[in-house]
Amino acid sequence: MDGGGWFEPYRIKVVERIPVTTARERRKALDEAGWNTFLLRSDQVTIDLLTDSGTSAMSDRQWAGMMLGDEAYAGSRNFYHLEDAVRSAYGYRYVVPTHQGRGAEHIVSRMLIHPGDVIAGNMYFTTTRLHQELAGGTFRDVIVEEAHDPDSTHPFKGNIDLGKLERLIGEVGAERMPYVSVAATVNMAGGQPISMENLRAVRELTGAAGILVVLDATRAVENAWFVKEREPGYAERSVAEILRETCDLTDLCTMSGKKDSLVNIGGFLGLNDPDLAEEARNLCVVYEGLHTYGGLAGRDLEAMARGIEESVDDDHVRARIMQVRELGDRLIEDGIPVVRPIGGHAVFVDAARFLPHLPQERFPAQRLAAEIYLEAGTRTMERGIVSAGRDPETGEHRRPRLELVRLAIPRRVYTSRQLGMVAASVARVFDRRDEVPGLEMAFEPAYLRFFQARFRPLDR
Ligand SMILES: *Cc1c(COP(=O)(O)O)cnc(C)c1O
Repeated sequence: MDGGGWFEPYRIKVVERIPVTTARERRKALDEAGWNTFLLRSDQVTIDLLTDSGTSAMSDRQWAGMMLGDEAYAGSRNFYHLEDAVRSAYGYRYVVPTHQGRGAEHIVSRMLIHPGDVIAGNMYFTTTRLHQELAGGTFRDVIVEEAHDPDSTHPFKGNIDLGKLERLIGEVGAERMPYVSVAATVNMAGGQPISMENLRAVRELTGAAGILVVLDATRAVENAWFVKEREPGYAERSVAEILRETCDLTDLCTMSGKKDSLVNIGGFLGLNDPDLAEEARNLCVVYEGLHTYGGLAGRDLEAMARGIEESVDDDHVRARIMQVRELGDRLIEDGIPVVRPIGGHAVFVDAARFLPHLPQERFPAQRLAAEIYLEAGTRTMERGIVSAGRDPETGEHRRPRLELVRLAIPRRVYTSRQLGMVAASVARVFDRRDEVPGLEMAFEPAYLRFFQARFRPLDR
C-alpha cells in the first residue's frame, strides 16, 4: 500500500492565519463548550480536524467560478454546468441540486420509504438513518463483520455481507424493502471501501428481488481510489472510470458535495428513472428550493460543478489518501491504537483501547477528543456511543461496538508538518492515558445528540 513518491499537485496561493492558544485558554474554552468539541468556537482551535465536510480549500478555478454565478431564480446557467459535471463524472441522467447531502437524503427517504419498511445498508450514517426513520422506516445493518473489528486488515471493510442481506430479504420480504442503502466509502466504519465485486453481487441479489440500490456517493471518489489500489483488475483504470462503473451499478445516489466535491456547501441527487426524477424535483421545490437551484446560490452550483471535475483527478485523490495514511502511520509507529487499514478521509483512534479503564457509559471517545484538544488545540470528534444515540423503541443508549475518535482531514488544507504536530500531541495524551477519567452527560438534545450534548468531567 505504498503511495510511492506522492506529493500535493498544487501550490498555495492564499493563506489564512490560524489561532494559537495557551493550555489555560483551552481549558476555559472546553469548560464553556460543555466538553463537546462541536461547541468550541473555531477561533479557539489551532488544527481543525473536526470534519472533512465543507472544510476543503477551493481552487483558483472554483473561486473564479464563484464570480460567474448566474443568480437567476430559474434556469441558472450554473445549474446546467452542474448537470453536465454530474452526468460526466457520476453518469446519472437526472440531477437535482440540494443544499447539502441530508437534503438529498430527505427527498429520497420521503419518496421511497413507506411506514414499516426496512432499509438495509453497510453501516448506518447519522443523517441517513435519521431521515429513513423519520419517513417511517427501520435501518438494518448488513455490513461484513470485519467492519466492526478495528484490527481486521480486510481490504474492503465496507462490503455488504451478502448472507446477511439475503436472510434479511427472506425475513421481511422484498416488498417491504424499497432499497438497499450502499455507502462508498463507509464513514462510520472508518472510511472503509466497498469492492466492485461486492457491489456487483449486491446489484444481482437486489435486482432479482426488485429492490433498488441507492448509493451514498459522498466519498465514492475516495472509494474508487481504494478499488484501484486493492482490487484485482483495476490498477490501470483511472479513478474517473472506476467512479462511473460504481454509479452504473446503482439506481440513484445522494451526494454531499461538501466532501469529495471540494465545496463548502452543496449536494445533489442523481437519478436514472424519469418518474422518480420528476417526483424528486417536486419534493425539491417543496423542501429545498426550485429544482434548478435546490437551496444554493448560482455561484455555489458553479463551484460544485468545477469541484466535481477536479475531484476525479488521480493525482488529487492520491495525494488526499496518502496524506491521511501518513498521519495514520505516524500514530501506529507511536503505538496508538487506530482502526486499520487507514481509511480515506480520516484516522480513527480506538478510544476503547486507548482508555480501557473507562466503561462505554463514561464516554471514553468523547473524553479523548477533549483531551486531544487540551493537549495542543486540535479539534477532533467522537464517533461512538454519543454519536450512536438512543434506540427509538427502548430509549436506551445504542451501544456501537466501535468507540472512536475521528481525526478527519480537510482536503488541500493542512501541511504534513502540521499533521506531524497533531500526531505528536496525540502521543503525549497516550503517555498520560492512565490518568484520564471519564465524563457524564449534563444535557442531551432530542435529535443527533452528538452535535449539541454537554458533558461534565469526572474526577476518576
Ligand atoms: C456528510 C455525510 C452525509 C450528509 O451530508 P451533509 O452534507 O452533511 O448533509 C451523508 N452521508 C455521509 C456518508 C456523509 O459523510
